[in-house]
Amino acid sequence: MRFACFDPADTADMGCDCSLCGDQPQVEPVVPRRTALAGIGAAFAALTLAPSATEAAPMRLPATRGLSFVNVNTGESWNGVYWRDGKLDDAAGKAIARILRDHRTGAHARLNVPLLDALWRVGNRLDADEPWRILSAYRTARSQNQIRRVEKTAARRSMHMLGRAVDVTMLGRSPNAIASVAGREKIGGIGNYGKRGFVHLDTGPYRIWRR
Ligand SMILES: [Zn+2]
Repeated sequence: MRFACFDPADTADMGCDCSLCGDQPQVEPVVPRRTALAGIGAAFAALTLAPSATEAAPMRLPATRGLSFVNVNTGESWNGVYWRDGKLDDAAGKAIARILRDHRTGAHARLNVPLLDALWRVGNRLDADEPWRILSAYRTARSQNQIRRVEKTAARRSMHMLGRAVDVTMLGRSPNAIASVAGREKIGGIGNYGKRGFVHLDTGPYRIWRR
């Protein structure tokens, strides 16, 4: 099975890989039992289902929001408020774009605020007091191709290439715990790479997979 993972601005098949790695979520999505859907329709339904009345509503975002990051590839860190008075803080945006840059090429992506908000929501639910540890964020096509030369199963395109995905860990929080909370918040794509010790989060359609 190959997941449809469409970006509104680009209807090409994004492949939805999580290639720190090169893995692709070619597994059945985990669909909540209460959806009572099965078979071939389940994968599609997982992309489109709205939360039911019995599910917790996604967390409301406060007017001021902060994050804390460490990029394990560069050793760089950042901690601060990225959203205040209803808009992105310019200086914070630049600092975060730098932290999330493609560490192989140095290229920055356009900052994806929904991705920051997803990390804020998940971190808040986790009652986190540790920074997000970034294993991989933005990737240029060149970097993705570099990964593909090593990982033959890597997708040609990925949400990382849109600046809409991160592979993360957090000290004191297991991949299962992070993925579970992200699933409850329905932040988008959630890949639990528990055996490899990290979680892929993206702001594409809601879907969950485990490797
Ligand atoms: Zn990933």
